[in-house]
Amino acid sequence: MAEKRYPRCAHCTTRLCENRGGQASDGPPTLEKAPVFCPMKLMPDIYGLALAEYDKPPVKEFARLASVQEFQCYERLPDGLRTKLPRIEELIQFARKCGYHRLGLAHCGGLAYEAGLLTEVLENNGFEVVSVQCKTGAVPKERIGVSAEEKIAGPEAWETMCNPIVQAMIINRSKVDMAIMLGLCIGHDTLFIKYCKVPLTVLAVKDRVLGHNPLAALYAGETYYKRLRKKIE
Ligand code: SF4
Repeated sequence: MAEKRYPRCAHCTTRLCENRGGQASDGPPTLEKAPVFCPMKLMPDIYGLALAEYDKPPVKEFARLASVQEFQCYERLPDGLRTKLPRIEELIQFARKCGYHRLGLAHCGGLAYEAGLLTEVLENNGFEVVSVQCKTGAVPKERIGVSAEEKIAGPEAWETMCNPIVQAMIINRSKVDMAIMLGLCIGHDTLFIKYCKVPLTVLAVKDRVLGHNPLAALYAGETYYKRLRKKIE
């Protein structure tokens, strides 16, 4: 069978790039033991291009602050490292580090309750929050070609389409420092990301079944979600 010659880090058993146990003074690891599908072997030129981007001062500073934030998510105890910050606190700390004041929240109508809670937390921490829910505009689903039979509430019901493009446009126009995505559907999130022109982070993605924690299906992949791992013939 032909070897699959494209980057496949998820199949790597070496994870040599992490250089665990290495000392800063030793420099980077050699690539001899990296797998043939390692991007460091397949696309060696691309790393210089990326580093040139980091050399742009605002990008470098942003990347530095993100790594400092990562560092601060752990506490160093006598028995080892321990995690200490849920993502909401990371978000608050990182936004402060970046000097952000005005945040844009793009949320799903199905997570209006969570959007309210998050807004309260952010406002209590001194941020101004511009929020836009997905149904804004009240455009019927028929406008994008959804058929009567494909409406969730039934063929006769009015059903407002999710409108991630306008969510992005409103957030762009509101001159926020950073946008936060909360629970947008698959595909709607893709469109939001495509049209959003400000720095964007994700607090949570939608999973209607697993309490917005899609990884739960992987963690239960040996038991309740075994079907997911079955190879399709
Ligand atoms: S970059 Fe190379 S060594 Fe690192 S995980 Fe990917 S395949 Fe493995």
